[in-house]
Amino acid sequence: MFKAFYRQFSNDIGIDLGTANTLVYLRGRGIVLNEPSVVALNVKTNRVVAVGTEAKNMMGRTPHHIKIVRPLVDGVISDYEVTEEMLSYLINKANDVDKKIFRPRVVIGIPVGITNVETRAVYDAAKSAGAREVYIVEEPTAAAIGVRMPIHEPIGNMIVDIGGGTTDIAVISLSGVVRAKSLKVAGDKLNEDIISYMRDEFKMLVGDKTAEDIKIKLGSALPDDEGKEISIKGRDLVTGLPREAVITDIDIRESMYASIALLVDAIREVLETTPPEVLSDIMHKGIMLTGGGALIRNLPRLLAMQLKVPITVADDPLTAVARGTGIILEDLDFYDSILIKNTDDISIR
Ligand code: ADP
Ligand code: MG
Repeated sequence: MFKAFYRQFSNDIGIDLGTANTLVYLRGRGIVLNEPSVVALNVKTNRVVAVGTEAKNMMGRTPHHIKIVRPLVDGVISDYEVTEEMLSYLINKANDVDKKIFRPRVVIGIPVGITNVETRAVYDAAKSAGAREVYIVEEPTAAAIGVRMPIHEPIGNMIVDIGGGTTDIAVISLSGVVRAKSLKVAGDKLNEDIISYMRDEFKMLVGDKTAEDIKIKLGSALPDDEGKEISIKGRDLVTGLPREAVITDIDIRESMYASIALLVDAIREVLETTPPEVLSDIMHKGIMLTGGGALIRNLPRLLAMQLKVPITVADDPLTAVARGTGIILEDLDFYDSILIKNTDDISIR
């Protein structure tokens, strides 16, 4: 009776708290929010000034007392208040989409690399942000569910989620993580590689946003048929004045080479320590790529060549985790064993 009463008003939500992008999934609606995981903080009052797209637009244009932070990359997630404000902002914004949200149940996907203190902060913050119940799930697991891998079966499922701050590699079988590894080599690192390369080879300073644009336009893990080049704008390191330079896909491949090699090595390491039966499943079914990094051109081909394992890129890889949280919401009982349901499950590390 009480449950039915609640259900009438409450529309449960799933949140993918990614290092680069935060997505909100509304039960019965799908993905209703997709914003950068960026917060603008007033350092004098320690209050949140803006969240998401609004905060990202302030980047590089803020007065001294306003600081732009990426909570999951810069570690501010351990700052309980910032996390809480970010989550209540998201829950309220989802509420604008559907007025029925009242004390929702919330499934939150968190990166595997974050500490227990941070996990606890996420949990507590979601509670005070108005969640009736909070369920935490590790992102690779949510991503695997989002792309409908049969993680409950006694079959080895391998997923590599290449996000902004981290790449999470996981082998899942019988609803449990058999092997996992998280490394801080992902989209952000590639942007940094491009910035360093431009500095060293072209004596030019380019911003984060430009580096990311270059990566998406020109970046490729292997040579393409046709060569590509673009002209980019930056600051000459010698004169300090604006300058343009023409760069090619070869430059960008060279700049990203070392990081991509680290990625390949990390996946290889996980494969090398995977039990033989599970490994044979993976050789047969292949590895699933999710996250924005899965869209790096020719990366699947390079991985398949180097690892001798078939590679599949998920449809719409950037939304896999959010879709996974949505699928979990539909049947919380079924997914019970993979969820962290209360703070007692989170020991302080
Ligand atoms: P997170 O889960 O950590 O928030 P996402 O899965 O949202 O990360 O992926 C964000 C990363 O993906 C960013 O580094 C972004 O530059 C990168 N990315 C997005 N689209 C592309 C693309 N087409 N090619 C290469 N990288 C991409
Ligand atoms: Mg992610």
